[in-house]
Amino acid sequence: MIEVSQAIRLGLVGIGKIARDQHLPALAGEPRFALAAAASRNAKVDGVPGYHDVEAMIAGGEGLEAVSLCTPPEGRYAQAAAAIEAGLHVMLEKPPAATVSEIAALEAKARAAGVTLFATWHSREAAAVEPARQWLAGKRIDAVRIVWREDIRRWHPGQEWILAAGGFGVFDPAINALSIATRILPEPLILENAWMDVPEGRGAPLAAGLTMRSGEASVTADLDFLQTGDQTWDIEIDTDAGMLRLGLGGSVITLPGEAPQKAPDREYSRLYARFAELIAAGESDVDMRPLQIVADAFLVGDRRTTAPFEF
Ligand code: NAP
Repeated sequence: MIEVSQAIRLGLVGIGKIARDQHLPALAGEPRFALAAAASRNAKVDGVPGYHDVEAMIAGGEGLEAVSLCTPPEGRYAQAAAAIEAGLHVMLEKPPAATVSEIAALEAKARAAGVTLFATWHSREAAAVEPARQWLAGKRIDAVRIVWREDIRRWHPGQEWILAAGGFGVFDPAINALSIATRILPEPLILENAWMDVPEGRGAPLAAGLTMRSGEASVTADLDFLQTGDQTWDIEIDTDAGMLRLGLGGSVITLPGEAPQKAPDREYSRLYARFAELIAAGESDVDMRPLQIVADAFLVGDRRTTAPFEF
């Protein structure tokens, strides 16, 4: 008799902007997962059993097999550790943890428990990222320019946590650019120096600049959280075969002499498909490189205090 495969019973944690904008729609279209519970201190998902926190959700008798964490990075370690210790597979929003040592410890815990840990980088699933990686392979890369400028008030309305210590500030979006760069550049990305502007009374920067190297190529990143009007999420790469341009966060690719090509956004459905595949294969996927670059920027970066900021 053929065994009918069951959907993986998943609990979603931290019902805020990204859970509602992306995770709930992606889960609705993914038959390999069944949304069995939600945990959020203040929010609920209609028609789904709700709990105050991840520990109460695990104890709630919902038969969970996996959790997906959409909370801010600070505090996620304890939530992920509780889930791993309960034998659940865990998917993490980016950035995967508040510190490098936290994500390293989670990776070791998941390995010891025999569960899947998936540290997601949604921008790597943007349509043009894999074509860019393939086009760059074997070419000489001379220079890389990352420009990541967005409006904190538009994408993170009222999110006080993002400008607190441990909230990453402008590195919350910029780590997406670093996740793309570390995926598509053939040589390791190494931070050389950095500066950052931290508003008075806040713990995380609103603007930053990074100087890096990848092999022989210079790599710069111009990061800003106060850009109104058109938003910029671009990476330009000079090679011996001309310039490749990735636009709109990795969703548009322009190759030398060609028109821009854009494909539909399927980032979060690809993440949940990958999570299901990792669980089925008994594997984890934890790439800390983007987080390490951010940590290095906080280690060596010059900090300037700038005018106070209010949302
Ligand atoms: P958010 O709107 O603030 O949602 C996070 C939710 O987590 C909150 O609504 C809150 O719900 C819960 N939470 C638990 N502990 C919390 C704490 N100590 N402080 C604040 N909230 C806490 O944030 P978000 O934009 O969804 O971002 C969450 C994660 O997704 C971040 O790591 C971010 O980088 C990532 N992400 C965000 C976007 C975006 O466009 N905003 C895009 C991609 C990825 P309760 O109050 O109900 O507990």
